[in-house]
Amino acid sequence: MIAYDLECSKGHGFEGWFENSESFEVQKNNNMISCPLCEDTDVRRLLSPVAVRTVTESGERAPARDIDYKRLAKELIDQVNNDFEDVGANFTKEALKMHYDVTEKKNIRGTATKNETKMLEDEGVQFFRLPVKKADD
Ligand SMILES: [Zn+2]
Repeated sequence: MIAYDLECSKGHGFEGWFENSESFEVQKNNNMISCPLCEDTDVRRLLSPVAVRTVTESGERAPARDIDYKRLAKELIDQVNNDFEDVGANFTKEALKMHYDVTEKKNIRGTATKNETKMLEDEGVQFFRLPVKKADD
């Protein structure tokens, strides 16, 4: 079974469980999937939380399609590693500077403590978390 984040044409989000991606397509094409709030059968699949947060940075969503989430996550991490400047533990400081236009906006990556993360959220700074492999994995 796989769980998909779905959205109807009116923007209601809900979750659907399917045997596999094919089963989702078949049910969708036969209008067998309906929104639990408004019964709209015009539903589409959203991307995983990791991908959604990335694409919403530009305010748009990527089109729904079959996605290998593990590969996607790896590609995303690779891309971040290549394109984002590593500021390490200065992440929060640098992010806040950019937020308040003290420094030019650029893509940065780094680490933040729980408190720092909360502070960034309180300040309304846009950022997203990536899964980092733990040592005990
Ligand atoms: Zn709906």
